[in-house]
Amino acid sequence: MSRQCYPLTEYARPQSLPHMFCPGCGCGQVMNYFIHAIADLGMSLDEIVAIGGVGCAARIPVYLKTDTLHGVHGRTLAWATGIKLHKPEIPVVIFAGDGDAGSIGGNHFIQAARRNLDVTFIIVNNLNFAMTGGQVAPTTPLMATTMTTPYGSSEPPFDLCLLAVSSGATYVSRWTTAHGFQTIKSLKKALTHKGFSVVEIISQCPTHFGRYALGSGNPVDLVKWIKERTVMKSKVSNIEEEQKQGRFVLGEFQDISRAVYSGSTVFETGC
Ligand code: SF4
Ligand SMILES: [Mg+2]
Repeated sequence: MSRQCYPLTEYARPQSLPHMFCPGCGCGQVMNYFIHAIADLGMSLDEIVAIGGVGCAARIPVYLKTDTLHGVHGRTLAWATGIKLHKPEIPVVIFAGDGDAGSIGGNHFIQAARRNLDVTFIIVNNLNFAMTGGQVAPTTPLMATTMTTPYGSSEPPFDLCLLAVSSGATYVSRWTTAHGFQTIKSLKKALTHKGFSVVEIISQCPTHFGRYALGSGNPVDLVKWIKERTVMKSKVSNIEEEQKQGRFVLGEFQDISRAVYSGSTVFETGC
């Protein structure tokens, strides 16, 4: 099918293509799932601001026909806060890597969740700092080999969904790139949710994580490796405690409503 005929071409910014993702990278799948969610909801990209910081996933907004902001590492939520305080009616979507969300922008992440900032925060978790060459990240599985942990990472990883829930986020879910249907459904919920909505997607980085941790740059091997480590939230209580270690628990972790942080909250309370 030619690029002109592809039904979702209208959502991509042709002058930004071709994209920079490596062959087999999960970032392209995440972008595809996001476009499907937008198309299913009948939303127009014209009405959305999409923000990316630094990292492979942070490039996704550059390829979308949204109003796009692409800037420094870990500061996406600061920009989103400014936009929402000025124009609360505009939907704001952030594409963050796991480094952007859990490390460099970690404090913004927990404060935005605490405030219930009304934005959609999509975390593409490829388990390492990919764009800079495959260094260990706060999400790297225990004992996984990376460029900077040749003997395995000795630090336990963050559970970004539990961090979001305990910080106050009002919609939180986790899937993998191998769960397209569920991811699109969660993205649709997140995009229509009022409050801080987080969708974490475990994604394959064959170029760095695959090569260092598995000894294979084949994306299929890495997707299989990720899938084998998943367990549904509803089934997690059925498995032994020691078998829970290193698993990616999938499902929805939070779906509640409470007051959002907005211009009127700030001005009415005099904060
Ligand atoms: S370095 Fe990894 S995450 Fe980045 S584009 Fe390549 S495969 Fe994807
Ligand atoms: Mg990363």
